[in-house]
Amino acid sequence: MEIKGPTKLTPMLKQYHETKRRYPGTLLFFRLGDFYELFYEDALIGSKELEITLTARHKERGAPVPMCGVPHHALNAYVAKLIRKGYRVAICDQVEEPTGRSKLVKREVVRIVTPGTAIESQLLEASDHNYLSAIAGNLTEMGAAFLDLSTGDFQVTEFSGEDAWERIVEQLDAFGVREILYPKSLEDFLNARVSGPASDEPSGATVDQFRREAVVLQRATRTPLDDWAFDEDYAATLLVDHLGVATLDGFGLTGHTQAIRAAGAALHYARETQQAQASHITEISFFQPSDYMILDPSTVRHLELVQQLDGGKDHTLFAVLNATETAMGARLLKQWILRPSVNLAELNTRLDAVEDLKNALVRRDQLRQHLKRVQDVERLLARINLGTATARDLIGLKQSLSAVPLIKEVLAESSSSLLEVLRESLDELNDVCDLIGRAISDHPPASLAEGGTIRPGYSAELDELRALAGDSKGAIAAIERRERQRTGISSLKVKFTSVFGYFIEVSKANLHLVPPDYERKQTLVGAERFTTPELKEYERKILSAEQRIAELEAELFHDVRRQVAGATRRIQQTARALAQLDVLTALAETAARRNYCRPLLTEDDEIVIKDGRHPVVETQVDRFVPNDLFINNTTDRLLIVTGPNMGGKSVYLRQAALICILAQIGSFVPAREARLGLVDRIFTRVGTSDDVARGRSTFMTEMIETAKILHTATPRSLVLLDEIGRGTATFDGLSLAWAVAEYLHNNANHAAKTLYATHYHEMTDLEKVLPGVRNYQALVKETQGGIVFLHKIVEGRANKSYGIEVARLAGLPQSVIARAREILANLEANELDPMGRPKLARHLPSRADWKEQPTLFDSTHQQIIEELRQIDLDRLTPEEAKEVLAALKRKLI
Ligand code: ADP
Repeated sequence: MEIKGPTKLTPMLKQYHETKRRYPGTLLFFRLGDFYELFYEDALIGSKELEITLTARHKERGAPVPMCGVPHHALNAYVAKLIRKGYRVAICDQVEEPTGRSKLVKREVVRIVTPGTAIESQLLEASDHNYLSAIAGNLTEMGAAFLDLSTGDFQVTEFSGEDAWERIVEQLDAFGVREILYPKSLEDFLNARVSGPASDEPSGATVDQFRREAVVLQRATRTPLDDWAFDEDYAATLLVDHLGVATLDGFGLTGHTQAIRAAGAALHYARETQQAQASHITEISFFQPSDYMILDPSTVRHLELVQQLDGGKDHTLFAVLNATETAMGARLLKQWILRPSVNLAELNTRLDAVEDLKNALVRRDQLRQHLKRVQDVERLLARINLGTATARDLIGLKQSLSAVPLIKEVLAESSSSLLEVLRESLDELNDVCDLIGRAISDHPPASLAEGGTIRPGYSAELDELRALAGDSKGAIAAIERRERQRTGISSLKVKFTSVFGYFIEVSKANLHLVPPDYERKQTLVGAERFTTPELKEYERKILSAEQRIAELEAELFHDVRRQVAGATRRIQQTARALAQLDVLTALAETAARRNYCRPLLTEDDEIVIKDGRHPVVETQVDRFVPNDLFINNTTDRLLIVTGPNMGGKSVYLRQAALICILAQIGSFVPAREARLGLVDRIFTRVGTSDDVARGRSTFMTEMIETAKILHTATPRSLVLLDEIGRGTATFDGLSLAWAVAEYLHNNANHAAKTLYATHYHEMTDLEKVLPGVRNYQALVKETQGGIVFLHKIVEGRANKSYGIEVARLAGLPQSVIARAREILANLEANELDPMGRPKLARHLPSRADWKEQPTLFDSTHQQIIEELRQIDLDRLTPEEAKEVLAALKRKLI
């Protein structure tokens, strides 16, 4: 349909255009009678996305205006649909009653709903945060703010340097932001990034990075704001005023200009869209990724922490741990999983609490029972502060709070310091409960308009009005009785309809009995309707009483809601304590249910796990085979794990990472015993099948991820490499795999603890040449009927001709098997050099290479060489020579 504006706008459309101009970038729902209508472009989008009929207004004038509408009572469902699709919506209501006299009703935008500022429960996932983000700065110095308006969670960060933008995007990804606010001056840059690299662009690290950025940016709604909204002074003043503080120093924001600017814009937008103060945003916290264990997005995906690779949610770490009873707890647990802590003291207090609750079955059960009654108080509180909470929300709050004294009583018996702190943070909020209890009915109606929200006894005026209106039945019956007697019409009825009000109905047959003081009101087929002065007066009294009741109920309710909002900080503190308590109880519950043990966390460099299990896989298989792990930064820092396909290598690698993550959120772990040195980051370079599904060049992706690991891993990191170099020809794949292993082993800055699963059995030769390498294999048993995977990981190297054995058992023709054996023998014969050393190990890095690449051994070796130089052979007796040699040998590592 071609869109042409009508030559002359009607007053209503003029009003529409004026409103629309003030809310650019939104779909404007315009209230007309019982419908909300979309016009012009909005109508085209709306009819398509909502699958509703497109019609037109003013067809007769030759320039039809496209239009589509939804019934007013169904608005929320339609808006929700659009928000989920990433649109922003403005809702324009009639803000005065249509009188019938003035032609044009006053209309105003009363609400703006956007993906990042949604607070309605139907737009939110109970166990997910809903983040709005704002980015500010130039590309070498950038700040980002993350605000969950539905809970008040507000965090900011800042990066500088060449990779500032890249790191911001990582955070946008990690927070799963729904909407990104950016200054208009960044528009061109951002648009270029959103569209990603051209499809014919050759692959490369930068192009791949672009592609990843585009995915993250496309997922969110992008909202440009005028640059002034990001102005530093404006932001600082807004934040200081909002948070009611003299300076932002207390929030760790000193010197972080870009973070402040981003935060200012986010808060500005949140308040603007809600047209409310948003006083439930009571604090803002500055973080740096290194405040937590760093899990990059691909590691989060590969380890299936909160979502399976195939998109499912049932078999994830979160699903296994999530024995929480409240939505707040579920959200916090997810946050802990995605951001494990690196703070030993904090973790030990959490572990103490979990231990306490694990050992106290009765108390744990009681707590969970009480927590069941707790609703999503954080989100209730947001709605209370943003003026959208209903009476049912207040009752929900009261019910939730009624669990607090019981919870405190249970906690009084615990000995953990964290539980004690949480107990003290829990406020019973008796004043709030009391107010709600006195003011609001126990079962209030869904909307104020239905009446009955305010409890009898709360307001004398309301009670009086209600008595008056409530007696209408009796009064009507009395009038009816009297009029029947007076007129002798026994079938006379006094009735009420919302359109005609009160009237007396007399059937046609009795019309001759109607007294003269009856005024005719309406004629029906078989009857006439009349009124009398008495009835008119009565109607006036009743209707005004009812109107006044509605007004008064609304006033009283809003007043109660305001008073409850006054206790925001106390309620919030209680809500957050409840959330933590819920998570700790859930961790204890899972630990007990699944037989987890308390890990001993240390600052050492060793990770020792006895009988470790994979927390998710163990719930899916009949009998899980536990395995040990020993890894450190010296003697056992690079574990090469070989074994046949399906042998259990990947599971073994992942369980190591998952156990470390569990411990660093404060959870017990699936093992008999675990002593774990804190880990600063976990990297995974795991299988490529999911990338194939995403249509990426798998080998390139693999190498990019590997490059990132080699550049950023630290000795405190845990690296999982599952099949490096598989996506290319055997020889160069193997060469790369080998070189990567050497680097991770030797480089002093990047020598991480590494678990390396590989099908290149040649890699096991590394053990012979590098002191920190250990070989492990996944055991299998061959039987007559086939092979049995034992899933046991033991020291040693896998039988290299194993593939051929499997092929034989699988029934390949005997001739093929024989020929394969022959080829293998030929290949193996060439694998050792004339000196008998493994070929791949032959060229150890030269002296020059060592200089470039400082190694852990470097200084020791240098020292030994120096000592050798100092020795005067002529003066040495054979005994002394032996001693010197022994001493030198001891120094070798
Ligand atoms: P690989 O990486 O060696 O190809 P996986 O680690 O993917 O093998 O394991 C293959 C399957 O074997 C898993 O899906 C799981 O069902 C099972 N499995 C692995 N490890 C164990 C274990 N320790 N105990 C029981 N079953 C296991």
